[in-house]
Amino acid sequence: MHPKTDKEITAIRESGHILATVRDLVASNIAPGITTKELAAIAERELKSLGGEPAFYGYMGFPDVICISVNEQVVHGIPGGYEVSDDDLVSIDFGVRYKGMITDSAVTVVAGSQSKLPGRIRKLMRATEESMYAGIDEVKAGARVGDISHAIERRLRKDNLGVVRDLVGHGVGHEVHEEPEIPNYGHRGKGPLLKANMTIAIEPMATLGGDQVFVEPDGWTITTRDRSLSAHFEHTILVLDKGFEILTESTT
Ligand code: MG
Ligand code: MG
Repeated sequence: MHPKTDKEITAIRESGHILATVRDLVASNIAPGITTKELAAIAERELKSLGGEPAFYGYMGFPDVICISVNEQVVHGIPGGYEVSDDDLVSIDFGVRYKGMITDSAVTVVAGSQSKLPGRIRKLMRATEESMYAGIDEVKAGARVGDISHAIERRLRKDNLGVVRDLVGHGVGHEVHEEPEIPNYGHRGKGPLLKANMTIAIEPMATLGGDQVFVEPDGWTITTRDRSLSAHFEHTILVLDKGFEILTESTT
């Protein structure tokens, strides 16, 4: 909630660069035949070589460095022996701590050849990513959290997608989750006021079915109740006086 200092912003910018580098490397390795644990090992190795620390490892007891959630799994999947197959929707969600500052970003990738991807999956992917950018476009000092929430929900509803309500975006920086909560639904003009130099994570989670989710017996993985496919995109954003800076933008 509190604006970050110039020194903290310099560090969180570096944290975001490291995160983007690792996230994009992991994403580029998502292909049929690789296991989610092997993807996590790639993340761990690359992050170590860049000098960052995994922000999720041990957070509330999470057992790995990265969350990998496949198909009807929405978020918080634990890497393991699952072997990715053609047309799987693989969501990776990653957090980096560098010089004490945390960034958080997620992306959903289709494994295998995308050419024969069904239109409804294409729509899910595109709309979820576009809803994230619709939310980001609302960011500036003086805007309200509800402006972001409303823009995300509006884009997702346009394609009749389920909008997951049990999980939300959030402030980020010193901790993985800080105030304020940033729901992916809501009303323009409502909610906390954004101030310059706040850092927030905007992360729509959408489904091809309903809004309802449940926690798997592993205690972590969040899955759609109706087993519909799900997508998740997230960036960490710096609030500026007249707009925003995406701290976890791809570096390529
Ligand atoms: Mg995340
Ligand atoms: Mg997050």
